Amino acid sequence: MVALAIHGGAGGDGPWKGPTDLDPQRIACMYNVLSTVGSMLDSGIDALEAVTKAVEMMENEPLFNAGIGSVLAANGSVTMDASVMRGKDSAAGSVVNVTNLRNPIKAAKYVLEKGWPVMLNGKSADEFGIKNGVEEVTQEWLKTELRTAQWKKWRKAKSMPGATDEDDEAILDHDSEGMGTVGAVAIDAKGVLAAATSTGGMTGKPDGRIGDTPIIGAGTWADDIVAVSCTGIGEAFIRTCAAHEVSTRIRLGQTLESACKNMLDMVAPFGGRGGVIAIDSEGNIEIPFQTMLMYRGYWKDGEILTGIGPDLSSQ
Ligand code: ASP
Repeated sequence: MVALAIHGGAGGDGPWKGPTDLDPQRIACMYNVLSTVGSMLDSGIDALEAVTKAVEMMENEPLFNAGIGSVLAANGSVTMDASVMRGKDSAAGSVVNVTNLRNPIKAAKYVLEKGWPVMLNGKSADEFGIKNGVEEVTQEWLKTELRTAQWKKWRKAKSMPGATDEDDEAILDHDSEGMGTVGAVAIDAKGVLAAATSTGGMTGKPDGRIGDTPIIGAGTWADDIVAVSCTGIGEAFIRTCAAHEVSTRIRLGQTLESACKNMLDMVAPFGGRGGVIAIDSEGNIEIPFQTMLMYRGYWKDGEILTGIGPDLSSQ
């Protein structure tokens, strides 16, 4: 039983308004990730390779908030966080506030493979990634016109961190929402689970801010029973150890579905609306969210489903 689920971030308030002009490009990217990496899983790559590859492909899509196309911090810079975890041996790797890597998730995987330490921060994380062959890119390369325009709007309106929608009317409605963080969870042919998450964080975030994405147990978790990748207001996911909470709840006897839902209910009072993707050791997949939308999809038994609003559909 091999399976893969991905997300491209959650966000928005109120009822689903239908896709934006840019959404077909995001859906096409997710479909490509699911068919490419799903087939690779079928041909025998392991779960760690699968989630790293899936996230790398989404980092390379400028419309998601990770890698190129990351949102801009308050000071106008791009700083990115990423983490990855393998369930069978609790191996984990994470990079925090990197500024010059095309694919932060590859650096996180190199940290995992090296084995010690688990997290690397700032310039040292950039240097470690580049030394290990992750492509070095400039800040200018990472900043897209879309994100620069969103940042200018954010600055003009002195909005809260997180306003990132491309919809002019709606941009500041999402005043506390992050959108476009990417993540993947997978189970491979040997039954090994893995999870990976990567983000530019939230528009207008203060200098030095670290969200949940690079924190093992908050934004990313994998063990022998479940792999989890979260998206949403990172601070609330940190304060509730959200990704790990899903595993705790399953161990206490909850179904995967209840564990995910109850975790999101637990995060919500801390202002942490968002979503989660999770896959368990039997290949069951859950992808719930409490926001207006979550870019998401999964590949299982050769079938691919993707969605943004309430419904999933095949291509
Ligand atoms: N969780 C991410 C962060 O707080 C943002 C997101 O998921 O959109 O940095």
